[in-house]
Amino acid sequence: MFFLSLVLLPAAVQAEWFNGAEDIMGTQISVELWQDDPTLAQIAIDAVMAEMRAVNQSMSPYIESSELYQINQHAAKQPVVISAELFALIQKSLYYSKLSNGAFDISFASVGRFYDYRKAELPAEQQLADMLPAINYHLIELNPTAKTIRFHHPQLNIDLGGIAKGFAVDKAISRLKSLGVESAIVSAGGDSRILGDRRGNPWVVGIKHPRKDDGFVVRIPLVNSAISTSGDYERFFIKANERIHHIINPTTGKSAAAVQSVSILAPLAVDSDALSTTVFVLGVKKGLALINRFNGIDAIIIDADGRLHYSDDLLRATQS
Ligand code: AMP
Ligand code: MG
Repeated sequence: MFFLSLVLLPAAVQAEWFNGAEDIMGTQISVELWQDDPTLAQIAIDAVMAEMRAVNQSMSPYIESSELYQINQHAAKQPVVISAELFALIQKSLYYSKLSNGAFDISFASVGRFYDYRKAELPAEQQLADMLPAINYHLIELNPTAKTIRFHHPQLNIDLGGIAKGFAVDKAISRLKSLGVESAIVSAGGDSRILGDRRGNPWVVGIKHPRKDDGFVVRIPLVNSAISTSGDYERFFIKANERIHHIINPTTGKSAAAVQSVSILAPLAVDSDALSTTVFVLGVKKGLALINRFNGIDAIIIDADGRLHYSDDLLRATQS
């Protein structure tokens, strides 16, 4: 016995945490996972990055060969055949539009594409007024039989920036599961999903202070959950004392101003992502009313005055 264990000991491998990070989809993708085999760990990290690149290649509004770009080029003239995956994600986007009475609307891009946050540019009032009628998800027609999409407005443009990162994170987690990974976190900017726990403990995810670069407002312990945060501090510029940022109120074509940050907890990142953007536009009252309708979905909102608001289940949890 003693001899045997001596022989086996050098071959025994130590499990540990492995990390990977890359800039894809205009944001930082990071992955951390628990593995005992460094080769398998690297395969898993590469698989996550490959999923992210594939989603970007299909759904980027900037890459001319992407499916999304082609839709925006042609769907106002004729129905465009699209992949089953993109079809399903647009269908889900329309579901969130109906659920929120249009607060979430991928056709926000009809106006949104005239903002450039890096160059501090925004659409002129007349241009905004001209393009505003093209923000209307009712004018996006999906044909489930032919798997086509068609726009019923010549200026209509779509952008999946409010849902695609969460979708990509879910795909990455599925890949990790199929590779046998049991504990991991995958993040794409403000959208994260946690697989399993952190070796017997929960993962602790911090919600950023919307006005302090390195401060956190709350820390949340999470196991097997997704969390997405939408904040007005992510992509913005200040003009005439007004914060012009990347979350657009579809009714006005201007930045939504009701809150500073929204975090959503949900089982899947595609849902937490879409809902964080949705609740950001809806504001505290309507946003919490929507979230409280769902079991297993929660919200933490920081309002325009910096005050915290929790959905009912979280409120009970913080008080018990
Ligand atoms: P997130 O950080 O997940 O809230 O996503 C913000 C991104 O969602 C923006 O950069 C836009 O691409 C997109 N977006 C902005 N406003 C809306 C809206 N009202 N409905 C859907 N997507 C939006
Ligand atoms: Mg979102």
